[in-house]
Amino acid sequence: MQKVAPEELRQRLQDAVQGEFEVGRLLGQGGYASVFLAQDLMLKRDVAIKVLDPNLSISGDHSERFLTEARLVAQLEHPHIVPIYQVEQKNNLLYIVMRYIPGTSLGGLLAKEGKIPPAQAASIAREVADALDFAHHHKVIHRDIKPDNILLDSSGHAVVTDFGIARAAAAARLTQEGMVVGTPQYMSPEQASGEEIDGRSDVYALGVVMYEMLAGHPPFGGRTAAQILAKHLSQKPPSLSENSKDTPEMLSEIVSKALAKDPGDRFATARAMAEALGGTAAPGALDSGAQQRKRRAGKRRRTVLVIVGVLALLVVAFGLGTFVLARALFTGDPPAVSMTGSNIPPVLVQLAREKLQIPPTDSIRYFFVAHGRPNTDGVVITSRELIRADSTGVRRLKWGNLAFNLNTKLTGSSGSVVVRDQESGKVDTILRGLNTRELSVFGQALKELEKPVGDSGK
Ligand code: ADP
Ligand code: MG
Repeated sequence: MQKVAPEELRQRLQDAVQGEFEVGRLLGQGGYASVFLAQDLMLKRDVAIKVLDPNLSISGDHSERFLTEARLVAQLEHPHIVPIYQVEQKNNLLYIVMRYIPGTSLGGLLAKEGKIPPAQAASIAREVADALDFAHHHKVIHRDIKPDNILLDSSGHAVVTDFGIARAAAAARLTQEGMVVGTPQYMSPEQASGEEIDGRSDVYALGVVMYEMLAGHPPFGGRTAAQILAKHLSQKPPSLSENSKDTPEMLSEIVSKALAKDPGDRFATARAMAEALGGTAAPGALDSGAQQRKRRAGKRRRTVLVIVGVLALLVVAFGLGTFVLARALFTGDPPAVSMTGSNIPPVLVQLAREKLQIPPTDSIRYFFVAHGRPNTDGVVITSRELIRADSTGVRRLKWGNLAFNLNTKLTGSSGSVVVRDQESGKVDTILRGLNTRELSVFGQALKELEKPVGDSGK
């Protein structure tokens, strides 16, 4: 699956909305869509237009499903939900016109600030919980609550976007059975294992977002989506009070309740969570409380979800494969992964083979998936070729022509890898912004390439 380049997409969108909107700059890109700023020519106001990647092969029934979902979402009118103005299918493009929210997303804020003050975190979380509660009453589950989908308006209030859109998009591309929709870091255990979900799954995701606002990082990290999902399924989140000492006791209690593995142990509704968060607005409520912490520690029990964990691994082995490559390799979603030789999990090897059509005779030596790095979303090195995937598509370079002519440059703490095709003399930056560790993994992969072909058996 190849993504259409933003400029081409912008042009196609402009053709579709000619006379109605003037399409402006790209605001951002996610896993399956691009968002453009545009001006409504009649009303003379800015709007944001989210257009689905046309290569998601949308046809007949599927686009109908997308439109049905999007229409449902368009009914949601709430101060903390980004209003949808229009949902259209024109010139083979599916797009959603919505209110433009100037300002930054919570994702942008966290990227800049690391963590944010408890009172601000509580107030953002409460607004999101309000929005979720409202949507749940209208039978809409968000399914992809994450900092990038929480926009902050000019006065710092949260406005949630992309309600149900992830699923609508999945419906539209419905190519892979049981595809997992969402973002690994924020995914509830039940969503990760592909079970039926309800509003409590969004409660969990909001718990993850809260954790990240307070600690500066989400509770579970890992080198692969598979590792992260496995942790959501079976690992207890690291304690907030230990990770972030200034977190008020009341907030860490709310977070751990939202992050319960079993939906039955979480807040029963987003309303209940909003109310608990409302309680933190009382004077002094956010003072830290070591005594309360002690009391809670004795109460806490661990439920080991071994069976669920095993199921998760099965999901990871089958359903998730698609997920890893569709969302990570081709879109550059987190996490950044850089692996060589036998460290590459078989599931990724298998998927790389499938998705990138790597014949069994070629061994896979290096696997890289970037997030938020310019130029490269994924690089796979096999014994015969270097395969590079980014938003412009998949490119394959044969080692024969490259003759190992690679330069690795280190500038400050970030390095890049440049490759030259000796035949054409063309130079191509395949990796950029790598840290030292990632660079050394890359170097190791190159060393492995010098060994006889086909020795790793992968
Ligand atoms: P993701 O949510 O995965 O980041 P999206 O395709 O939903 O991907 O959106 C891409 C980016 O566009 C968002 O991160 C956000 O910064 C920006 N964006 C989305 N909707 C709006 C909007 N209504 N107003 C302003 N910016 C928006
Ligand atoms: Mg989004």
